[in-house]
Amino acid sequence: MDKIKMTTPLVEMDGDEMTRILWKMIKDELLLPFIDLKTEYYDLGLEYRNETNDQVTFDSAEATKKYGVAVKCATITPNAARMTEYNLKEMWKSPNGTIRAALDGTVFRAPIVVKGIEPCVKNWVKPITLARHAYGDVYKNSEIRVPGAGRAELVFTGEDGTEVRETIHEFKGPGVIQGMHNLDSSIESFARACFNYALDTKQSVWFATKDTISKKYDHRFKDIFQEIYDAEYDEKFKAAGIEYFYTLIDDAVARVMKAEGGFIWACKNYDGDVMSDMVSSAFGSLAMMTSVLVSPSGVYEYEAAHGTVQRHYYKHLKGEETSTNSVATIFAWTGALRKRGELDNIPELMEFADKLEKATLETIESGKMTKDLALITTIENPTVLNSENFIKEIRKNLEERLNEK
Ligand code: NAP
Ligand code: MG
Repeated sequence: MDKIKMTTPLVEMDGDEMTRILWKMIKDELLLPFIDLKTEYYDLGLEYRNETNDQVTFDSAEATKKYGVAVKCATITPNAARMTEYNLKEMWKSPNGTIRAALDGTVFRAPIVVKGIEPCVKNWVKPITLARHAYGDVYKNSEIRVPGAGRAELVFTGEDGTEVRETIHEFKGPGVIQGMHNLDSSIESFARACFNYALDTKQSVWFATKDTISKKYDHRFKDIFQEIYDAEYDEKFKAAGIEYFYTLIDDAVARVMKAEGGFIWACKNYDGDVMSDMVSSAFGSLAMMTSVLVSPSGVYEYEAAHGTVQRHYYKHLKGEETSTNSVATIFAWTGALRKRGELDNIPELMEFADKLEKATLETIESGKMTKDLALITTIENPTVLNSENFIKEIRKNLEERLNEK
């Protein structure tokens, strides 16, 4: 069989620990034998980030803007322990944060739904994609612990010196204050990213805030979404047979629990932080969650939602066997390859991505899986495979599928 040709390179961002080990296995077993893989490689492993003073992360983000599609391995976000472990020059920022800031993107997370791994919520038969606004609000706040009686005010001073003042509270005793902000431009990007992704995946968008209580702040989010929808998306949505639906956040939560899935749930920053963990664990496993960063300019970066699986890596280093789930990382690759195929008009590449996904799901449905899934599956007597043998089993299924035609 001839290998599938590519025309534009994918931006490949390698990463850390156990996921770096899986990364190589996936390439060697599932991609390189079948595709003439074209990538522009960036090593975002912590050692090389440290060596280049994190320049490699910025370069990889620039390359993503240039080529349009990237695939990223999980990476370590350094903390105090990592400073010593890797002898770091600085506590480098989270690569995901850097890339997100450069691309001004929104992160969409969706569970990989497979027979045998059943969601806790029994009526969820289709995936729920969670879109989290990744700028501002409580994540960029200023806080004061109020020592005692006094007046707290909100003051805005315009460039021309004009002041706007609002009393927050006349304190009679100690308490706390918090100030936060958001930007029209960021909310607009978020809205467009959600609407574009909805058209891309043919799913409706649900958006919710607490605008009845937050009559200016949250209301601004609601208005911006509605204005952009009416002006730019209404006709396209109707043509695609999908809808935009706004409600209050508490109503949204209640409806989500009763829904069957198959929509995009757009959330403000905090709601998205909290709800994405709820949705992903209710769907079964963090290791079965995909994540894609979509910029308003239409640039895509695919990854797994989980981290570097440090605990498994240390076992691997000691020569012990690991059973680490590679599904979300495989789906990061298939997502990126499919998008590249779509943009470059290479149907074989898109078809390959479909077949690799099917082969992966088939492997699990036939009862062969990694330990994390074996613990929660409804399939009786599952076969627990180690990291490598799980990927090899997928390869067998993939080869069968590729030979079918
Ligand atoms: P993690 O790597 O997601 O792992 C947490 C635990 O979840 C693991 O110990 C494992 O449980 C289970 N798990 C996660 N993914 C799995 C998989 N593919 N297969 C099997 N089990 C899986 O999170 P963490 O340990 O908090 O973080 C480790 C490093 O990852 C940190 O340095 C963090 O900065 C980084 N991180 C990176 C990203 C990213 O690049 N997007 C995201 C999150 C975290 P058991 O140990 O019980 O088997
Ligand atoms: Mg969180």
